[in-house]
Amino acid sequence: MLELKARLWTHGNTDELLRRAIASYREPIELERSAHCSHCGQTAAERLDTFETDNGVTIDGVPTLVCEHCGNRSWDLLLVGKLEEMVLHRPTGTKITLDEMLTL
Ligand SMILES: [Zn+2]
Repeated sequence: MLELKARLWTHGNTDELLRRAIASYREPIELERSAHCSHCGQTAAERLDTFETDNGVTIDGVPTLVCEHCGNRSWDLLLVGKLEEMVLHRPTGTKITLDEMLTL
């Protein structure tokens, strides 16, 4: 399928087709409805919240698992690691949304 679509839209260039596909891919974030808290083991549900990076950049709309029992929040370390990397050179105090970061 990749090569067929590449022939039709990017003169056979699969890298260019992938670049365009990734740029235009937008679906709602799938939040985990029911998981277990890593702290107390009770039920936790994922919601969108504000994440603050080590260099003081605030990112709204980041999925986090919130425990209904103890209130513990746990972040997807690979996700927030990527976000940290993407805003590394932004000044402290910058406010941005995950949505905005997806359209950069
Ligand atoms: Zn908990």
